[in-house]
Amino acid sequence: MADSDKFHDECGVFGIFGHPEAAPHTALGLHALQHRGQEACGIVAFDGKHFHAHRALGEVGDNFSSEEVIQRLRGHAAIGHNRYATTGRTALRNVQPLFADLASGGFAICHNGNLTNAYQLRRQLVRRGSLFQSTTDTEVIVHLMANSERRGVLDRMVDALHQIDGAYSIVAMTNESLIGVRDPLGVRPLVLGKLGDSHILASETCALDIIGAEFVRDVEPGEVVVLSEAGVDSYKPFRAPEQRFCIFEFIYFARPDSMVEGTSVYESRKRIGAELARECPAPADVVIPVPDSGVPAAIGFAAESKVPFELGISRNHYVGRTFIEPTAQIRNLGVRLKHNANRAMIDGRRVVLIDDSIVRGTTSRKIVQMVRAAGATEVHMRISSPPTKHPCYYGIDTPAQQDLLAHKHSVEEIAEAIGVDSLSYISDDGLYRAMGESGRNPARPKFCDACFTGDYPTALPDKDEASRQPELSNLVERAG
Ligand code: SF4
Repeated sequence: MADSDKFHDECGVFGIFGHPEAAPHTALGLHALQHRGQEACGIVAFDGKHFHAHRALGEVGDNFSSEEVIQRLRGHAAIGHNRYATTGRTALRNVQPLFADLASGGFAICHNGNLTNAYQLRRQLVRRGSLFQSTTDTEVIVHLMANSERRGVLDRMVDALHQIDGAYSIVAMTNESLIGVRDPLGVRPLVLGKLGDSHILASETCALDIIGAEFVRDVEPGEVVVLSEAGVDSYKPFRAPEQRFCIFEFIYFARPDSMVEGTSVYESRKRIGAELARECPAPADVVIPVPDSGVPAAIGFAAESKVPFELGISRNHYVGRTFIEPTAQIRNLGVRLKHNANRAMIDGRRVVLIDDSIVRGTTSRKIVQMVRAAGATEVHMRISSPPTKHPCYYGIDTPAQQDLLAHKHSVEEIAEAIGVDSLSYISDDGLYRAMGESGRNPARPKFCDACFTGDYPTALPDKDEASRQPELSNLVERAG
């Protein structure tokens, strides 16, 4: 179950070309990327003549384990998507990959990210007569392609993407090829892999590992790769003046066993934890991570501070969305459903808790209470990201700005609200140092760090328009 007190990655993408069992490999790839989206999933396969699709609400294991479903998805090429809905509601019509019959033939597409000018483009398209089938921003790309004057699907796609702002890692499929694209800033990840003679695109390398594929390289910011019988072709149609990969992928979103941007996520988290210990040491007898995401940073913190690391909180991995908490009193027990304190590691000790972020603070408060109830004499908290003060517009589900605790409150006020003896966050410079830089260069930051700094690398969506969910019926009426 997604944690309501965390930022959430919205989507994972996967595609494979040139494999006789493309769909089952795609299902496995999506399974490895399940942490990037749990609301819905879909696969479209192509067998040389026909496209076959299966889309469903829910997780991959619940929807792609049946032999009957997999056998229907025949073909040597397939693409797939995990979705955590933000743009467009979670209805089956919004589940990707989307499919369209373009002048050039069948075309399937899915993406990870968020198109910040999608609403304006959609209104223009509807005025010109486009009829949308879904409320996702991805469909805007399809209509822009259908309306393009260019010839050939690749040129139409590039033409469409030139009109788009925001962050996107796209995996698309035609009747001849797979196409992978990263936005010019490279905000969201996309990697290229190889399994025998077949080529693969995936959000993270953990999706290559699950099928025994080898990592070839990251798709570069602004790059278009085409996977076909001829091999892999690369194009650079987009100006890429700077790169702004999402630094939060290293802190929390990506799986610790993935390599992103040539760097081990696990090692990065340990380095961030070590930097945190140097910047903000804590008077403690034991270092305890808030599981699971706080674990690597806590290992780094403990090693640097020479304070013992212990798994003082256990997490129940079997808490699913099917467990409905029936009363307010039971709901207040929520965190104990998910986490439980290990009294033997805590009783009579000064504890430093390591977590990756505090978003609303509700979970942190409950965890601190739980650790105190287990006998901690002091509870200090150290956070391996700077305070999250600003929402994300690039494909991460974040609460509204007024619901972000750090937007309205100082560190001291947050410490009081969550009930700790002391609270510190890693600094912007400390985070960059952990990522191998000398600090954050405000004139040219290497990463997107906008949810900490408010320094957004692209134009933002118009506030009024972004807050309105585009309803299909309204848009059709307006077009008339
Ligand atoms: Fe990542 Fe934050 Fe930038 Fe969003 S705003 S892309 S979460 S760093």
